[in-house]
Amino acid sequence: MGIPDIIIAVDGYSSTGKSTFAKLVAREFGFTYLDSGAMYRGVTLFALENGMIGADGAIDTEKLLPAMAGLDLHFGADGLQMGERCIEKEIRTLEVSSHVSPVSAIAPVRTWVDERLHAFSAAGRVIMDGRDIGTTVFPNAELKIFMVADAQVRARRRYDEMVAKGETPTLEDVMKNLQERDYIDSHRETSPLRQAEDAFVMDNTHMTLHEEVVWVLGVIQGKFGLLEAPALSC
Ligand code: C5P
Repeated sequence: MGIPDIIIAVDGYSSTGKSTFAKLVAREFGFTYLDSGAMYRGVTLFALENGMIGADGAIDTEKLLPAMAGLDLHFGADGLQMGERCIEKEIRTLEVSSHVSPVSAIAPVRTWVDERLHAFSAAGRVIMDGRDIGTTVFPNAELKIFMVADAQVRARRRYDEMVAKGETPTLEDVMKNLQERDYIDSHRETSPLRQAEDAFVMDNTHMTLHEEVVWVLGVIQGKFGLLEAPALSC
C-alpha cells in the first residue's frame, strides 16, 4: 500500500513509546523522522553546560535567550548535533530530563524550536513526535496520533532503556521524573500537552511494536480511502 505524502503528528505523555513507533513508521514507509523533544533537550543541555541553570533549577533566561541566536542544533546521521558534536547520548540523561520541562515551558524557546522544526520539515513526508505537534506545530497535519500507556509500564520501559545504555537510575526516580514532566508539560501556559480533537488515540500498554504498525496501517487505510468500503446490505 502506498502511503501518500502526508505529515504525521505523534503526541503523547512521556515514555509512551512515541519515538520508537515513529522511527519504525519512518523506516517502513519512507518518511523523515523528526524528534522534537530532542530539540528541547538540546537547548537544555546547552543551558546546563553554560551555567544558565542554577543549583535550585532557576533558569537564567536573560543569558539563555540571546545566547540561542548562536546555537546550532540540527539532526545528523546519528541523531541530534550541536554544531559538529553529536549530543544524542548527553541529551538522554536524567539530569537533562529533570530540567527539560521548565526550559520548554519558556515561550521564546518554543518559538525558536518551532521555527527550526518547520525548516527541517520543508520537504514534507515527515513523521514528528512531541507534545504539541498536532495542536501547534502542525495543526493541519493529515494524520494525528495521540499515544497513551499505563504509568507503571512507561516508567519500566524508560528505566530499562536507561539501564541498557549504562546508566544507573532507580525506578522510583524515573517514575518521579515522568510524573513531573507530564504535569509541567500539560499545565504550562504556552502550547500545553493536549490531545488534538482530530487525533486517533493509541493505548499501547499491551501492544507490541508490530501491533502498533498494523494499527496505524488500518487507520491510514480507513482515513485515506485506500481500502474498499464493505458493501452494506441495508
Ligand atoms: O519526547 P521527550 O521525552 O524527549 O521530550 C522531552 C521534553 O521536551 C518533554 O518532557 C517536554 O517538556 C518537551 N517537549 C515539548 N514539546 C514537544 C516535545 C517535547 O515541550 N513538542
